[in-house]
Amino acid sequence: MEKILSVEKINTYYGKSHILFDVSLDIYKNEVLCLLGRNGAGKTTTFKSIVMLNPPASGKVIFNGKCLNEFKPYQIFRLGIGLVPEDRRIFGPLTVKENLMLGARVGRKGIWNLDMVYKYFPILKEYESKPGGMLSGGEQQMLTIARTLMGNPEVLLLDEPSEGLSPVMVNTLKEIVLGLKEAGATIVLSEQHVKFAMAVSDRVSIIDKGHIVYEASIEEFKKDLEIQKKYLAV
Ligand code: ATP
Repeated sequence: MEKILSVEKINTYYGKSHILFDVSLDIYKNEVLCLLGRNGAGKTTTFKSIVMLNPPASGKVIFNGKCLNEFKPYQIFRLGIGLVPEDRRIFGPLTVKENLMLGARVGRKGIWNLDMVYKYFPILKEYESKPGGMLSGGEQQMLTIARTLMGNPEVLLLDEPSEGLSPVMVNTLKEIVLGLKEAGATIVLSEQHVKFAMAVSDRVSIIDKGHIVYEASIEEFKKDLEIQKKYLAV
């Protein structure tokens, strides 16, 4: 397996609050890794540290052999890491298609373009002329993921994608994540939703109070009921 991204013992602070403690993660090409943890465990902070929105005070983030610590978030996006934030920032007055086109990057090669996005997200094709703001929360979530894909990232970071979605939408999202993996994507997602994580992930890492406390294949994790109870309140 080819390692594409590694987080090496990062420590991240908000002011004087120490939030991440020696957090390490390895991400391999074409896998889905799930960072599981309760509210406030440090999932969003980990993602923000990977793309240098909250640069770590120590430790390194290495992407395709390149250390990202000295790069700005927009440069990291151009290098090929796409973050879909928890708070779904779409442009409400712009149409779905315009929102999607904003994510496209001229000159970047890859499989994702409008046609491909519409194939994987048929609902967006149907609504392409509607203002993004008129879509439901779940549809907006699809739009933010699709918009990020339009930039052909090599690694897609999805921050709690199932949060606030109806069970039907969670199912659709599951199909989409599995479809993206099938299409060759490398995905890191953060979740509290254990069932969803189990349905889409190859491996899991659990973060608790800013520490990585567990790493396993999904098969191992499914059997580890004690761990699920201890860290994830299932
Ligand atoms: P959630 O599901 O609630 O988003 P999370 O696992 O993503 O949880 P983070 O958002 O990374 O957790 O938060 C980790 C810790 O950092 C929490 O204790 C939180 O209160 C704190 N924190 C997050 N953002 C800030 C901030 N801007 N300033 C200070 N502390 C923050």
